[in-house]
Amino acid sequence: MHASHQLRVYKFGGASVKDAAAIRNLAHIVRTHGGSSPLLIVVSAMGKTTNALEELFQLAHAGQDYIAPLTKLREFHLGVAQELGAADDSTFTPTPTLTELLEQLQDKLATLSPGEFDKQYDQVVSFGELLATLIVARALQAQWLDCRPLIRTDHTWREGRVDWPTTERNLGAALPPQLQQGPVVTQGFLGGTASGQTTTLGREGSDYTAAILAYCLGAESVTIWKDVAGLLNADPKIFADTVRYPEISYQETIEMAYYGASVIHPKTIKPLAVRGIPLLVKSFLHPTAEGTRIHDCRHGLLAPAFIRKTSQCLISFESKDLTFISEENLEVIFGALAQVRLKINLMQNSAISFSVCTDFSAYRLEKLLAALREQFTIHYNTGLELYTIKNYDAASIRRLTEGRELLLEQRTRQTFQFVCRGGENEFIK
Ligand code: ASP
Ligand code: MG
Repeated sequence: MHASHQLRVYKFGGASVKDAAAIRNLAHIVRTHGGSSPLLIVVSAMGKTTNALEELFQLAHAGQDYIAPLTKLREFHLGVAQELGAADDSTFTPTPTLTELLEQLQDKLATLSPGEFDKQYDQVVSFGELLATLIVARALQAQWLDCRPLIRTDHTWREGRVDWPTTERNLGAALPPQLQQGPVVTQGFLGGTASGQTTTLGREGSDYTAAILAYCLGAESVTIWKDVAGLLNADPKIFADTVRYPEISYQETIEMAYYGASVIHPKTIKPLAVRGIPLLVKSFLHPTAEGTRIHDCRHGLLAPAFIRKTSQCLISFESKDLTFISEENLEVIFGALAQVRLKINLMQNSAISFSVCTDFSAYRLEKLLAALREQFTIHYNTGLELYTIKNYDAASIRRLTEGRELLLEQRTRQTFQFVCRGGENEFIK
């Protein structure tokens, strides 16, 4: 039996640590629900800190003035720490102080070099989680753990690929003794290379971290504490009349996450499914409410799930000599997309053109155009939205498509998808 088989992993996202009051609520949940078995707490950056760090990084990397946003970020974190009585002191293990972390961030920003955008991004944007976990650990009087030397990844910056055997060995050696001392707080979203450089696991990657830790340590369950009541069939900020799934299978959840349901990071489910670890999604606002249990289960027909991805780009390629789009052409296109790391959300082929819908990135699109412009005529539209209805029926299709001009649509047995112009983030009744 695994040494820490009673272990529970809690994951708290940005909204649950957005200010001092939120962190007090987190502490309350840990006290009232944490129980007596070992507890590992994964925390994301506070509120919208990751976005703020991205902007800060972009300014610094472009050689522009970033002092004002940096000051704002520093004061925000120091202010929350102070409010919680969690300002600098030394607890348990040797950890940096908040001031030291903030100085490290400042140094990183001051010494950026041109180029190596993705690599340097990771060295800067990772501070959101480092700062948040330090404050939460202090507020809980729990141990702070730097996960970067333990969660080993390759050098795929901004989307580090986990080296599972090494990570499992590292965590198995380091964590059980620490967990016996009491709760441990660690960062979501982060990893480290063999040479000690910081990597990140992809935006919203803290859920994935919780799964990595649970898998490697043989946890009994993972609980993701969110600002919604559980796994819903749509994001209530975007869609009216959402319903909660009381339980749902790993497979269904993976598919929803794949299509962009933002409730859980897409990579989270597989490690949990492999080891049969249930994932509980609960509301940090109503911690005693039931939530959703994601596990190995069978269920009947599920309510249709609605998923919107914004900021999409539709790119179409035509071969210049008006020959057909052939396997050879496709190979070149796919190769270039992989090279610039643009992920295909939807694709469609016709005789002389091939279209892909991807998340928009000016930087990656530019690189793609440079690589393929000679061989293909390329058109693209930005500012689009991709809608997916999983387990659709006629009424659900009508609800979404009525009054819209569809630029592209696709239907399989379970899934209906279409691309249309952005509706200014409209709320859907
Ligand atoms: N803080 C990171 C992000 O905002 C990771 C996460 O929240 O899961 O993307
Ligand atoms: Mg987040």
